[in-house]
Amino acid sequence: MVAAFGAGGGDLYVGEAVTQLEHALQAAALAEQEGAPDELVVAALLHDIGHLLHGLGEDIADRGIDGRHEIAGDVFLGHWFPASVSEPARLHVAAKRYLCAKDPAYLDGLSPASRLSLELQGGAMPEGEVAAFEAGPHASEAVRLRRWDDRAKEVGLSVPDLDAYADRVLRVAR
Ligand code: FE
Repeated sequence: MVAAFGAGGGDLYVGEAVTQLEHALQAAALAEQEGAPDELVVAALLHDIGHLLHGLGEDIADRGIDGRHEIAGDVFLGHWFPASVSEPARLHVAAKRYLCAKDPAYLDGLSPASRLSLELQGGAMPEGEVAAFEAGPHASEAVRLRRWDDRAKEVGLSVPDLDAYADRVLRVAR
């Protein structure tokens, strides 16, 4: 994990003005501020680890590619962590599609890069899939994570560093 952030953490977060590492740390800090359980704080920290693992670079959406980073991340997180960590992370793209279907104001609040990737990810969730998503065991955690994800793009924000999460990551790991 530290190696992944070391290798790719300085890359810009796809189309945004913060790095992958800044984005991860801000998402984790927001989870912590809301009193989320340790598993969900770790999920917030590592939800985009797939971006660092797929190696396709930071401008893939501009090139019309959906790197399916939630899938690459799931292989990694599913190996090292319980479902309470890996599932909210795996579902964070579905949660975005879900929120777009449920809440028109949510779509308006997305950054341009996030709107571009939404199209590549299949757009708003079709009406017929919404109930099944909501009924899923980790849907509410995925939606919480998604809201932190969307806010974790602030330039120059001061947040705790990776070391602050090391104990928690080890504690919740398998
Ligand atoms: Fe993210």
